[in-house]
Amino acid sequence: MLKLLIAMTLLLGTGSLLLNMLPVAHKSGSRRQPIFSLVSRAHATEPGKTATPTGEEKVKKTKDEWKRSLTAEQYNVTRCGGTEAPFSGKYYKHKEAGIYTCVGCDAELFDSGTKYESGSGWPSYWQPVDKYAVREINDISYGMVRTEIVCSRCEAHLGHVFKDGPKPTGLRYCINSASLGFVPENEENQQEK
Ligand SMILES: [Zn+2]
Repeated sequence: MLKLLIAMTLLLGTGSLLLNMLPVAHKSGSRRQPIFSLVSRAHATEPGKTATPTGEEKVKKTKDEWKRSLTAEQYNVTRCGGTEAPFSGKYYKHKEAGIYTCVGCDAELFDSGTKYESGSGWPSYWQPVDKYAVREINDISYGMVRTEIVCSRCEAHLGHVFKDGPKPTGLRYCINSASLGFVPENEENQQEK
């Protein structure tokens, strides 16, 4: 009888141990939360990371490799933060339906449906195709406080975003044509022209 009692106690003990594991596992699951948010914040804000916020691998090239794959103007704008002359870019008056892509890595950036005539002299859009397609950086150059926009995948300088755009966002993504490629709507599954 005593042996049976000891066996019962042991069994109950094991049972409660097992039960104890559940809240422990749950606790460690909830502890993971801050780590997740740290990771996503790092992806969303830090250059030099290997993945975009959506988990895509970033495109990285050396200066020489970028120079070889871009025209002089594309290199100056996308890799040196240059700005093309207003009213001069090839997409300023472009009205075809399709997707504007990053000239550096072909990432989809802006839909023609969000392009509008801002009068600024640069292609203007009221939102990117995806909030993670572009990354915002505070820019205090030239004595101005502006928000620079770069490609999330290859860090190409694209332009700036201003808060004087049309509805529904009220934003104006002011983008250099030299930073962009274009895939017409009927060729979106084919190679970019
Ligand atoms: Zn890019």
